[in-house]
Amino acid sequence: MSPTLVLFHTNLRVGDNPALTAAAELGPVVPIFVLDEGFGRPIGNASRWWLHRSLQSLAKSLKGLGAPLILRQGDLIDAVKELVEETGAPRVFLQHGYDPSVQKGEAALHDWGVKSDVEIKRFAGQVLFPPETIRTQQDKPYTVFSPFWRTCLKQASFGPLVRCTALVPVAKQPGSLDLDALNLLPNGFDWTPGLSDAFTPGEAHALETLDAYLDDGLRSYKEMRDHPGHSPGTSKLSAHLRFGEISPRTIWHRTQDAMARNPDLARDGEWFLRELGWRDFSYNLLHHFPSLPEKPLRPAFDDFPWTEGPSTDLAAWQKGLTGFPIVDAGMRQLWQTGWMHNRVRMIVASFLVKELLIHWREGEAWFWDTLVDADPASNTASWQWVAGCGADAAPYFRIFNPVLQGEKFDADGAYVTRFVPELAELPKKYLHKPWEAPADILAEAGLRLGENYPRPIVDRKQARTRALEAFQSIKA
Ligand SMILES: Cc1cc2nc3c(=O)[nH]c(=O)nc-3n(C[C@H](O)[C@H](O)[C@H](O)COP(=O)(O)OP(=O)(O)OC[C@H]3O[C@@H](n4cnc5c(N)ncnc54)[C@H](O)[C@@H]3O)c2cc1C
Repeated sequence: MSPTLVLFHTNLRVGDNPALTAAAELGPVVPIFVLDEGFGRPIGNASRWWLHRSLQSLAKSLKGLGAPLILRQGDLIDAVKELVEETGAPRVFLQHGYDPSVQKGEAALHDWGVKSDVEIKRFAGQVLFPPETIRTQQDKPYTVFSPFWRTCLKQASFGPLVRCTALVPVAKQPGSLDLDALNLLPNGFDWTPGLSDAFTPGEAHALETLDAYLDDGLRSYKEMRDHPGHSPGTSKLSAHLRFGEISPRTIWHRTQDAMARNPDLARDGEWFLRELGWRDFSYNLLHHFPSLPEKPLRPAFDDFPWTEGPSTDLAAWQKGLTGFPIVDAGMRQLWQTGWMHNRVRMIVASFLVKELLIHWREGEAWFWDTLVDADPASNTASWQWVAGCGADAAPYFRIFNPVLQGEKFDADGAYVTRFVPELAELPKKYLHKPWEAPADILAEAGLRLGENYPRPIVDRKQARTRALEAFQSIKA
C-alpha cells in the first residue's frame, strides 16, 4: 500500500483532523511539518515559543499512535518533493487554510502536484463555516457580524467528530530534523517563563481547558466575560485555536453537549459560540478582503493623519508606562504572559489609535510579536474594528475612556493591582485615576507620580479633541 503524506500547519492536532483520518483509512501515513518562512509574514516571537511546544506535544501524540512526525525546514515544495521521493507517496493531504501565507503555500503545492502527478487534497477544519459558503442574498461577502452569524446558524450542522486511534507507519522512516534545530525558542536571554507559567500548549491541554471551562466558567460567560479580574472569566482557548490544537467544531460540539446536559447554560453557551463566531467572521473578512492586514477596509482611512515617525508614546504604551492603570495593566499582562483579556485589548487599542493617534498597524505589529494567539485574521480585523476603519467597526468618534472602563470592568481593582503592583495600596476610589488622589493619600500608598509610576502621558481632553479633528479631516 502506498503511503500518504499528511502536512500539518495550522492544525496541530490528532482529533477532528479529517486529513489525517482520511489518510489513515488508505494505509501508511507520514505526518510532516515544514517550517517555511518564505511564505508571507513570519510569525512573532511569542508564537514561535508556542509553536515549539505545540510541535513537541503533537510529535508525542503521533508517536503514540504509531507514526512519528517528520520535521523539515526550508522551501515547502522542495521539502514535500524530497519526502515524496523518499517514501514513494503518491498523495499529500492537508487542512485547507484561510490565511494568505498558508494559501500561497497551498497554491504552490497544488501547481507542483499537477506537474508532478502527485495528488494534493485539502480538507476542511480551520473554521466552522467555510467563507465561500457564507454570502449575502445578493451573493456578496458579509461585512456586518449579526446577519453573518444568523446565516451561519442556519447552516450549523456538523457531523460527528472522528479521532484517529492508530496509524500505520511506513517501513523505512524518512529522516527528521530535531525540534531544537527549527530554532523557534529565544537564543540568549530566556523571556518565556511567564508564558510557560500562564499556558501549556498542546492538544491535550486544549481539550482539558475546554472541558474545565464548560464545567466551571461557562455559566457566567455572558455576565463576566468583560471583567478581566474575574476568574475563569473567558476560556483562554485562543492560542490553542490559533495553532489548531483544538478544532472550532470540537468546541461547538462539546458546548452543545454541555448545554443539552444543563439547560441553564443555554444563554451563556449561545453567547460563547457567538464569540467563536467572531473568529469565523474575521477569517471570512480576510478571505474576501486579502489586503486586510495592510489596508483599511474603509478607503477614507487611507488619508487618516496618523502621527508620523518614532514616538516615545509608542514605547510607553508597549512597556505599560502610560500612567493610565488599565492600559498599563493590559500591556504588562501581554508582556508577561503573552495574552491579554479581550475587554482590555479593546481599551489599549483604542488608547493607541485615538488618544495617541498612532497608526493601528503599529499596534497590530506589537500584538503580532507578543501575543501567543497572534492570528492573521482576528488580529487585523480587530485592530481595524477598534480603529473604526474595519468591518462593522466601532465608530471612530466612540473613544473608550480608560478611567470609566477601568471603574466599570475592574471596579475592585483586582486586575490592575495584579499587573501594576505599584498601585496596590491606593484606595479603590483612585485606582483608575491616581493623578486625582490628594498628596497625603499618594504618600500613604507609597506612590510618587513621575517617579515610581508615570503621570498620564496625554491630556485626555486635548487628545479627544485632536482625534475628533483628525476624523473630521477624512470625512470632509
Ligand atoms: C485589538 C485586538 C486584537 C486581537 N487580536 C487577536 C488575535 O491576534 N488572536 C485572537 O485569537 N483574537 C484576537 N482578538 C480577539 C479576542 O480578544 C481574543 O480572541 C480573546 O481575548 C481570546 O480569549 P479567550 O480565548 O479567553 O476568548 P473567549 O471569550 O473564551 O472566546 C472563545 C474563542 O472565540 C474567539 N473569539 C472571542 N472573541 C473574539 C473576537 N472579538 N474576535 C475574534 N475571535 C474571538 C477566540 O478564538 C476565542 O478563543 C483581538 C481583539 C482585539 C480587540
